[in-house]
Amino acid sequence: MSSRSSAKPSTPTSTCSHEGLIMAQAQTTTKPDEDMRRFKFKWTLPRMIVQLISLIAINAIVLTQLFPNFKIQPVPFGLPILASVNSHFSAIYSSFDLIQLELAQPEFPFIVVGVLLLIGAVVGRAFCGWVCPIGFIQDVITTLKGRLDFVSPRTQKGAIRLKYFLLACTLLISGSLGLALALGAGSDYRAALGILASGPFIAFSPDATLFGTVPALIAMARDGFAAFIAKPPTMQLVYAWITTIPPLLAFRILILVAFFGAAWQVPRFFCRYLCPTGALMAIFQKYSLAGMKRDPVKCTKCPHCEIKCPMQINILDLPWEKFNNPECIMCMECVDACPHGSLSPKFA
Ligand code: SF4
Ligand code: SF4
Repeated sequence: MSSRSSAKPSTPTSTCSHEGLIMAQAQTTTKPDEDMRRFKFKWTLPRMIVQLISLIAINAIVLTQLFPNFKIQPVPFGLPILASVNSHFSAIYSSFDLIQLELAQPEFPFIVVGVLLLIGAVVGRAFCGWVCPIGFIQDVITTLKGRLDFVSPRTQKGAIRLKYFLLACTLLISGSLGLALALGAGSDYRAALGILASGPFIAFSPDATLFGTVPALIAMARDGFAAFIAKPPTMQLVYAWITTIPPLLAFRILILVAFFGAAWQVPRFFCRYLCPTGALMAIFQKYSLAGMKRDPVKCTKCPHCEIKCPMQINILDLPWEKFNNPECIMCMECVDACPHGSLSPKFA
C-alpha cells in the first residue's frame, strides 16, 4: 500500500506496477488550461454539505429529543444507504435492512425493491457518494488523514469480490428463512439462526453499532459518571464489570473499531470491499442512466483523476464516451482533480 497525496502527486512509498505508472505519469507536466485557471466549479464542498445534511436528516429522530415539539416519524421506504433499523435515531432506514426484515416476516419486499430498482436505474451508486452516512464518515477520516493510500491492483481486484460474497450469504440466509416460513416449516430454522434470523447483516453492521449501540452506551456512561466521581470503583469491580459485557456486544464494538482502522488505512475500505448495499447498487450502477465521460481531446492522461479516486478506479482504461464502473460512486473527485476539465458527469 502506498500514498496518493490529496494536494499533488508524491513519491510512492512501495513498489506496485500500476501505482508506479500512475506516479510517473503524474510527475509529467500538467499545465491547467487557461480557461480552467480562471474558474472551475468544485464538487467537493457541495458534496460534503449534502452528506452532512443527509447525516442529520437520516438521524432526524435525535432532533425530537433536543426539541420536544418537533414531531417526526421514520419514512415507510428505505434508501440504498446504511442506516440501521436498530438505531433509535434513524428517520430513514437502509433498504437492505428492510429487505432482510421483510424476508424474515415472511413477506416479499416489493416496495423496497421497487424503490431500489428506480434509484439504481437513474443514479446508480450515487447515494453511496452523496448520501450514505457510513460513506461520509469514511470520507471525513480520509480528509483528516490528508492523503489517499493505494492498494495493489491484485489485492483490490480480489477484495472487491468480498462484498458480493457477503451480499449473497445474507440474501441466502434471509431468503431461505422467508421461504421456509412461507411454507410453514421455518420455526426450527429461525430458532437455529438466533440473532441472524432478523437480518444477518443487521446483527453485525457497523452502522447499527455506531448509531444504535454507541449512543445507548454513552447514555449509560453519562448516568454512571456521577456515581464514578462520587465513589471511584476498585480494579476488581472494573474487571468484574468488563466480564459482564456480552460477547456479542464486544464483537460488534470490535467490528466498529476495525471499521475506523480500515477507513484510516484505505479510503472507503468498507464501501469497496464489505458493504452488501454497495454490492447491490454496483450491479445497478453498470446499467444506470448516470455515469461519467472523459473528453479524449482535452485528456493528457496525466493521471490526476485516478490518483484522487477514492474507489481506486482505473479511469483511463475505461471507455471515454461514458463509463459506469460498478465501483464508481459518482463522487466527482476525479472531475475536481482533472487540471484540463476533461471529465464530467453524463446522464443518458
Ligand atoms: S457502499 Fe455501503 S457503506 Fe459505502 S456508501 Fe454505499 S451503502 Fe454506504
Ligand atoms: S471515477 Fe470519479 S466519480 Fe467515480 S468514484 Fe472515482 S473519483 Fe468518484
